[in-house]
Amino acid sequence: MKPDSVAMTAMSSLGTQGVVCIFGTGDFGRSLGLRLLQAGYEVVYGSRDPKNSALLPKGAKVMTHEQAAQTARVIFVAIHREQYDFLTSLASALEGKVLVDISNNLRRGQYPQSNAEYLSTLVPGAIVVKAFNTISAWALQSGGLDANRQVLICGDHADAKQSVVDIAHSLGLTALDRGSLRAASELEDIPLQLFPMWRLPFRIAIGLLAVFFVYVLIRDVVYKGVTEKKDISFRIMVSLANKAFPIVALVMLALCYLPGIMAAFLQLYNGTKYRRFPNWLDRWMLCRKQLGLLALAFAFLHVLYTFAIPIRYYVFHRRFTFTSTMIKENKTYEFDNVMAWRSDSYLATGMLGFALFVLLGITSLPSVSNSLNWREFSCVQSKLGHLTLLLCTAHTLLYGWDKFLQPSAYKWWTPPSFMLALVVPCVVLVLKLVLITPCMDRTITRIRQGWERPVKGGTPGKEAKSSQPLIL
Ligand code: NAP
Repeated sequence: MKPDSVAMTAMSSLGTQGVVCIFGTGDFGRSLGLRLLQAGYEVVYGSRDPKNSALLPKGAKVMTHEQAAQTARVIFVAIHREQYDFLTSLASALEGKVLVDISNNLRRGQYPQSNAEYLSTLVPGAIVVKAFNTISAWALQSGGLDANRQVLICGDHADAKQSVVDIAHSLGLTALDRGSLRAASELEDIPLQLFPMWRLPFRIAIGLLAVFFVYVLIRDVVYKGVTEKKDISFRIMVSLANKAFPIVALVMLALCYLPGIMAAFLQLYNGTKYRRFPNWLDRWMLCRKQLGLLALAFAFLHVLYTFAIPIRYYVFHRRFTFTSTMIKENKTYEFDNVMAWRSDSYLATGMLGFALFVLLGITSLPSVSNSLNWREFSCVQSKLGHLTLLLCTAHTLLYGWDKFLQPSAYKWWTPPSFMLALVVPCVVLVLKLVLITPCMDRTITRIRQGWERPVKGGTPGKEAKSSQPLIL
């Protein structure tokens, strides 16, 4: 060990960082105490039962709340809000102390007042800072803080907040000041969130999957059963699933690019970028990344299911039957050049489209997108994105080929599923083509640079624009 690190270790063991008090010896109190001790702090617990210190980290002291409060300026309140009442009796001992409220609730809007503000009204002489509530006891103890390194802090006193920021830094965490104590309820809502950005894309994905699955089920299995009295329900497991997955993937990929195009047409119509988009469009644009990642998941499923086709019993049986029939009838299977082109082009567009789709997914990961500048990111997401959509649409068109011309494809007067899958992507590609024509492109570029179309009798109002920068 280097002499410096020996000295550091020795200093740490002496607790040279100062004293920190923790009220409550529960899960969070113990995990935080352990990390503070490792960082060189002296830790003093305030507990209802100071004699019961068996589970506490080695080196920590335990006292009554009143005694513990005397030892430190910063006190972490690792107690549930419901048990805060007893703190009123400690008002004089807590005078001028920094109380760090780490509490969370069970559901949003559980109390009219945030826990931190409530604590501040219970102990008006203390300075309350809200912090650490977004870090879990488990993450603190295991040290697995890579995805959870940021401590969000809010409070009304800069000095008090700085003391908590210093503690966070010495634990190897980053700190982000979220403003005054009024922001506490916002911070308390964060751990209660359940994939808020994924809800709409999930609903869209499930809805599309259900609709298309039922559609192909009726057209393929039910139709055969009713018209030919044949049971082909076994196709539900692989064939039908492998028809529905790529449709959902393609439609969802197109849905990622449709709001950007709609926004561009809206800006052209308004003649300004300073007019707010409708809320539904804003919401839609905010979840494009999640829509794209779900589309990629369905494309993955399509690839996996396709790989499994050659080992299916049904396929094996059909091939065997076909070959033996050809042998029995002494026929040859002529090579069809057009069919070979069609099949190879179908596979090539599918593979290229999927490869670009994966690339898009990778560049949307924060660790990758953070390393790109805005131009690089928008180039990948927009240009490569539209190219991916074009390739995947071509893949579907080649799959359909001339089937749409055959009357037998319209079972019960319904169009084949691939035709339905092509509607949104084709609309997106055609509109995109219109937008990149020189006259449209020039106008939209000027609007993006702040130009506004003169309005008769006044200037357009500079309202807030979309919360999302536009990638077209
Ligand atoms: P916990 O394991 O239940 O511990 C709570 C502690 O509060 C108890 O150990 C007890 O300590 C003290 N206490 C209980 N009843 C009391 C009363 N009537 N009067 C005074 N003190 C009482 O809870 P926790 O998981 O550590 O959570 C503590 C706080 O941290 C909560 O507000 C929670 O929302 C927040 N938080 C927890 C986590 C987490 O991962 N656990 C993450 C973020 C935030 P004594 O017996 O020593 O008095």
